[in-house]
Amino acid sequence: MNRIKIEKKYQIALNDLISSLRDSGFLNDYNVENAFRNIPRHEFVQTSELDRAYYNEPLSIMKNQTISQPGVVSRMTEWLDIKNGQKILEIGTGSAWQTAILSYLAGTGTVYSVERHPELVKFARENLEKFKLDNTHVILGDGSLGYPQASPYDRIIITAACTEIPLPLLEQLSENGLIIAPVGDSSQSLVLLKKTSGGIVKIKNESHYVFVPLLGKFGKKV
Ligand code: SAM
Repeated sequence: MNRIKIEKKYQIALNDLISSLRDSGFLNDYNVENAFRNIPRHEFVQTSELDRAYYNEPLSIMKNQTISQPGVVSRMTEWLDIKNGQKILEIGTGSAWQTAILSYLAGTGTVYSVERHPELVKFARENLEKFKLDNTHVILGDGSLGYPQASPYDRIIITAACTEIPLPLLEQLSENGLIIAPVGDSSQSLVLLKKTSGGIVKIKNESHYVFVPLLGKFGKKV
């Protein structure tokens, strides 16, 4: 991985963001904090949004999509409990900021990330290239189908709202694997599920999140 030197103004803003996420209980894991420090968010936003890169807010990228809010990224990443060497599937690459954080935590593992907009696939690949994260693969396609070619996955994260978790994704999760997704209509709950030998078990959930919709065959119809 290529370490990027962070300019002082961004470093101050990043420190403030980390303190406020810690104070509000959205950042508790030292490894996730390290990922936030090593994968600076301003490298994943559009130039017009640079001044707001460390606000705890989603920001527009392109194609009417958003880079997720830092507090949501820290919450989902912490719940996923990623271990070195794991194979991870992400649905909804967007800017690839979350992808890069997953890649950092997976270490010797691999991250597959599926995005439906070609423009965002290009943007995501360019952003990842700056860090030389060679354990990531960004794939153009309908993520509601998952990515069966590399399954099963130890962890799956869906970064767009689904009314129910697409069945192909549950099928592509390994036994003892975890999957996290925002589930609901206009407002969603973050839901963390585990696949056990006896079936799918809910581990925890938290309400009042709002994501852009997951489109596609097993998502909202385009
Ligand atoms: N986590 C991303 C980041 O850090 O920039 C933001 C993800 S954004 C909230 C949700 C993404 O899901 C959008 O880029 C959208 O195009 C994508 N998406 C929606 N439906 C999809 C589908 N069926 N397959 C792949 N990507 C999809």
